[in-house]
Amino acid sequence: MSRVALVTGGSRGIGAAICVALKAAGYKVAANYAGNDERAKAFEQESGIPVYKWDVSSYQACVDGIARVEADLGPVDILVNNAGITRDAMFHKMTPEQWGEVIGTNLTGVFNMTHPLWSGMRDRGFGRIVNISSINGQKGQMGQVNYSAAKAGDLGLTKALAQEGAAKGITVNAICPGYIGTEMVRAVPEKVLNERIIPQIPVGRLGEPEEVARCVVFLASDDAGFITGSTISANGGQYFA
Ligand code: NDP
Repeated sequence: MSRVALVTGGSRGIGAAICVALKAAGYKVAANYAGNDERAKAFEQESGIPVYKWDVSSYQACVDGIARVEADLGPVDILVNNAGITRDAMFHKMTPEQWGEVIGTNLTGVFNMTHPLWSGMRDRGFGRIVNISSINGQKGQMGQVNYSAAKAGDLGLTKALAQEGAAKGITVNAICPGYIGTEMVRAVPEKVLNERIIPQIPVGRLGEPEEVARCVVFLASDDAGFITGSTISANGGQYFA
C-alpha cells in the first residue's frame, strides 16, 4: 500500500517538480493550487497527478480540501507545505494588505494545513512534514520584510513542531531554497541574472526545481527517520545558516 503525499502549490514551479518526484518514488500524490485553473488542469493531464483547488490561507478551506483528498486517496502521510507568494515593497511603502497576504499564505497557511492532519498522523504513528521556506527567511531580504518574516516563522514552527512529533513517528523538516530557475526567476532580464544574481551564487548557476524535489523525496523516506527539526539549505553556497 503506497503512502499518500499532499503538496500545496503543487501545480507549477518547485511544487510541480516535488509532485513528479514523489510520484516517481512510488507515492500516491495530490497537488493543491490556489486559482490558476488552466495551469493546474494542464499539469494534471500531463503528469496524471490529481489537482485540488483551495486557498491555504483559510483554515476551513484546508479542512474541506484535505477531506476531499483523503476521500479520493486515503489518509495523508506526507505533507509538503510549498504554496507561497510574494508581495514585495520597501517597508515604508508596505501596506497592511501586503503584510497580511504574505503572512496568511506563507506562515498561517502552514498552520492551516498541518493542524488538521496532525491528529491522524499521531494516531497512525507516522508522518512526514516538509516546509519549503527560503534563503530569505534565513538571512532577511530588503523589500521582503513580510516574506522574510513568514519564511523565518516557518523555520521556528518546524523546530518546535519537530519536538512534539518526534515520539509519535512524525518528522518535521524545512528546506530553504536559494535562487531556483522557476518561471518567476527566469523572467528576470538576462543581464540582471548574469551580472547581479548568478555572481552571488558560488556554484555559478541557478538551482533547478528538481534539486529541491530530490531533498523532499529524501526527507519523506524511511531513510530520513532520524532527521527532524532540520533545515536543508539548497542555495548553491550562497548563504550558510
Ligand atoms: P510559483 O509562484 O511558481 O507557484 C506557486 C504555487 O503556489 C502555485 O501552484 C500557486 O497556485 C500556489 N499558491 C499560491 N498561493 C496559494 C494559496 N493561498 N493557496 C494554495 N495555493 C497557493 O512558486 P515557486 O515554485 O517559485 O515557489 C514555491 C515555494 O518555494 C514557495 O513557498 C516559495 O516561497 C519558495 N521559494 C522559491 C524560490 C524560487 O527561487 N523560486 C526560492 C526560495 C523559496 P496557482 O498557480 O493557482 O496560483
